[in-house]
Amino acid sequence: SVRVRFAPSPTGFMHVGNARTALFNYLFARHNNGTFILRIEDTDTERHSEEAVKVIYEALKWMGLDWDEGPDRGGPYGPYRQSERLNIYKEFIEKLKEKGLVYECYCTQEELEQMRKEQLERGEPPRYTGKCRHLTEAEKEKLRAEGRKPVLRFKVPEDRVVKFKDLVKGEIEINSRQLGGDFVIVRSNGMPVYNFVVVVDDALMKITHVIRGEDHISNTPKQLLLYEALGFEAPQFAHLPMILGSDRSKLSKRHGSTSVKEFREKGYLPEAFTNFLALLGWYPKDGKEILSMEELIERFDIKDVNSAPAVFDTTKLNWMNQVYIRNYPIEKLTELVIPYLEKAGFNLSEFDKQWLQKVVEVTREYFTVLADAPEYMEVFLKDQFEVEPEAKKFIEESPDRLRVIELFYEKVKELQEELTSETFKKLVKEIGKELGVKGKNLFMPVRIGLTGRTSGVELPVLVELLGKERVLRRLENSLS
Ligand code: GLU
Repeated sequence: SVRVRFAPSPTGFMHVGNARTALFNYLFARHNNGTFILRIEDTDTERHSEEAVKVIYEALKWMGLDWDEGPDRGGPYGPYRQSERLNIYKEFIEKLKEKGLVYECYCTQEELEQMRKEQLERGEPPRYTGKCRHLTEAEKEKLRAEGRKPVLRFKVPEDRVVKFKDLVKGEIEINSRQLGGDFVIVRSNGMPVYNFVVVVDDALMKITHVIRGEDHISNTPKQLLLYEALGFEAPQFAHLPMILGSDRSKLSKRHGSTSVKEFREKGYLPEAFTNFLALLGWYPKDGKEILSMEELIERFDIKDVNSAPAVFDTTKLNWMNQVYIRNYPIEKLTELVIPYLEKAGFNLSEFDKQWLQKVVEVTREYFTVLADAPEYMEVFLKDQFEVEPEAKKFIEESPDRLRVIELFYEKVKELQEELTSETFKKLVKEIGKELGVKGKNLFMPVRIGLTGRTSGVELPVLVELLGKERVLRRLENSLS
């Protein structure tokens, strides 16, 4: 059965590219009733920080990607953090030593630099020459006495064609001569490196499909050689296309937000964000773009992943987010909006939840992201307002206009019933008749009296949500 893994390094940052990799692994696993594994690759990181691991958990949880096996969840092939698997790696390093497939290399950085320089001068591609392949015990002893600490290099077989069929990129073939020579699998500090541990882990964790970013495609031949050397069966590979910014260069900070956290903080809904990521390099056969997680799972097929780069189109993400905001369950949306209102300084304690929900309901069509909510909801939340210069000018142009506000105030004050959209419309009609005004001359003064602005939400909606008392308070302020 299908077993896939998402294997991030805890950098304290979940890049959208990583998020897309996680999502595709998840969709592939769920579509095939397989297992989705989270493995933390923390052998490269100096300090393994709990905070950085938390960033990964939070991003995945926010996106709705639940994993079946992982550091916090356990599973039959743990531990799922590489820093806790060092003993396992040792065992397999010993195996390679026994088979004579690795050797100690004592070259210093300077010596390696020199080697590279000379090769470049001769017009050769840089590669490790295998200088230390045949050191005798006595030579090694001497180098150690100089205080040198060896790395361990893997003997790359000469002139071998490494072939694999990538599920996205198709047939890939490379000669082992092009791999840069014998590569390091254990650093001088004793830490095994990515290309080695990833093979041990994927094999022991019985991973059937390695789905990852295209930036790793050059590692795959090295890993295939290690599978062979260790006597493991290799999984299938699928390398996902690069993600480019709108200018078609590799997506980076220059293009704006690149971390999941930033998108979350701006107020993208997780469902919209996930839906958008799913379409970076994959497209459903039926062309339907707005898809729930269930619909994505149902449709996702790794064979339909495009090998051409995907462009991160923020305009499309915004459109999708709007679609999701308009259709989101209102209680949930309100809960998500509240922190943005609080951050904008609104005191929400005087409003009840139901009322807030109604305000969200009538304003949400204007939001692109949740961070837009304060701007559009302000008119409902704040009774104190400045009158825009344009609005002031409009009122001052004719005495009738101020009279409209006064009469509206008197009528609301005398009103026996509730102030609803309907009663409001009735009152305005009466005012129009009594003063002989209509259209803009009638509605604009009312709007200005209530909001200080010349445009905004529909007045009957606003008035009903404000209620009699707050309407009177606002008009009193405007008239004073
Ligand atoms: N730790 C690697 C990364 O974050 C994993 C690569 C892989 O999936 O093999 O890029």
